[in-house]
Amino acid sequence: MTPSTSGDDARSNPDPRALLHDAGLRATQPRQAVLTWLRGHPHSTAEQVAGAIRYELGSVSTQAVYDVLHACTTAGLLRRIEPAGHPARFETRTADNHHHLVCRGCGRTEDVDCVQGVAPCLTPSSTAGYVLEEAEVVFWGLCPQCRSETSESPDHSHHHEEECS
Ligand SMILES: [Zn+2]
Ligand SMILES: [Zn+2]
Repeated sequence: MTPSTSGDDARSNPDPRALLHDAGLRATQPRQAVLTWLRGHPHSTAEQVAGAIRYELGSVSTQAVYDVLHACTTAGLLRRIEPAGHPARFETRTADNHHHLVCRGCGRTEDVDCVQGVAPCLTPSSTAGYVLEEAEVVFWGLCPQCRSETSESPDHSHHHEEECS
C-alpha cells in the first residue's frame, strides 16, 4: 500500500481538484481553471490570468479571478511574486524557494533554481537573532528581447546612430 496520496509523486502533474481539496478549498471551476492555466503559463499577471480564464470559461469576472488568485495564494497553492515597479505575477511552483530573473524593461520573469534546493539557500552575514525561513532573491536585468530593442544606444560612450540602416 502507498502510505501517502499527496506525496512527491504528485508533484510533476498534480490534479488541481486534489490540490484544492488538500488545501481545504472547494474545487470550483474557476479555481481549477486558474491552477491549470498557470501551470502552463508561470509568472503571469492577474490581468493575463483573468483574460485567459475568461476566454476559457466565458463568464468569469475579473474580480472573481482576483479572488481565486488571492485564495489560492493564501492557501499556498500559488506563489505571488511582486517585482518592484511591476504588477504582481503568479505561479504554481511553490515551496521550493526558487528565485527569479526579472527584466527591468518588460517585467518578463524567469525561474532561477535555488542553489541548495532547501530554504533559505542564502545566509546573510548577520541574522540579528532572526530564525531564517526563506530567502527571496530577484536578479534584475534586461531580457534578450529588451536588450535587442535598446541595442542601438546601450550607453552614452558608444553612440552610433548611423549604424542601423
Ligand atoms: Zn524585457
Ligand atoms: Zn518562478
